[in-house]
Amino acid sequence: MPKQSYETPPNDARRTHFLVGRNKDHLERQIQGCPWSSTLIADSATYGLPIIIALGCKRWGCTHCGPIRTAQLARNVQRAAPTKFITLTTDSKLWKNGRQAFDAIRRKLPTLTKQLRKEHQTFEYVRILELHKNGMPHWHLLARCPYIPQNTLSNKWRQLTGSPIVDIRAATNGPHAARYVMKYLTKCKYIEWTNRRVSWSKNFFPPQPPTEKENWHLTNKTYEKESPETVMQTQFFGHTAKRCGPYAWTMAPNRPLQRPSTPDDSSDVQ
Ligand SMILES: [Zn+2]
Repeated sequence: MPKQSYETPPNDARRTHFLVGRNKDHLERQIQGCPWSSTLIADSATYGLPIIIALGCKRWGCTHCGPIRTAQLARNVQRAAPTKFITLTTDSKLWKNGRQAFDAIRRKLPTLTKQLRKEHQTFEYVRILELHKNGMPHWHLLARCPYIPQNTLSNKWRQLTGSPIVDIRAATNGPHAARYVMKYLTKCKYIEWTNRRVSWSKNFFPPQPPTEKENWHLTNKTYEKESPETVMQTQFFGHTAKRCGPYAWTMAPNRPLQRPSTPDDSSDVQ
């Protein structure tokens, strides 16, 4: 894995707010994962207990979810076998700031795709948004398409966005594509104003093999925006959390304290 350069997300107050006393250290050790996670609560037939599952935020900029999603994406892009690397830039002189450029230009991207498909039949891609140091967006596309002359692409992009600068080069075989994905997504910092860092055309990725799901037999599912810590402290007060998956816990009600009877105790009990 390359060195991560995501900004640390602001420390979420709710992470520790509800953890008090003895439970605090214990739960903090147990719950390590997405700092923005929401929660799935359900009944598990497998355990015969309520179950709490942390759902990651899936933001690209999240210190927890970002690297996981990036690695997944890199593997899938490799399988999709792109043939071209394309970079589409924006002209910083035309826009007040990066966000304005992004809002205006992202709507032009589908138009470009349509035009290219009309002339070159196949154009399937995954595109990744990156910001320059000056805050201006540019897009990296890993595309599966036939040969497209650079000046054709450049003319189209200029007509659509005012910026003529595009780069297109052949993708060589090997683990190149995956490496580029990792590079684009890990070197760029968290973008405040969008989570749409990555998008792709419908047929770019080959169909996914079915994945095995945890076999917990869940019923009565409800979703909470709160973190698992909060849910445990508020809805499951007086329960003991026991980990049953990387980000899942069963909640068993605590039994009332039963003191063993001793000769000393017997005098208290009539
Ligand atoms: Zn997250």
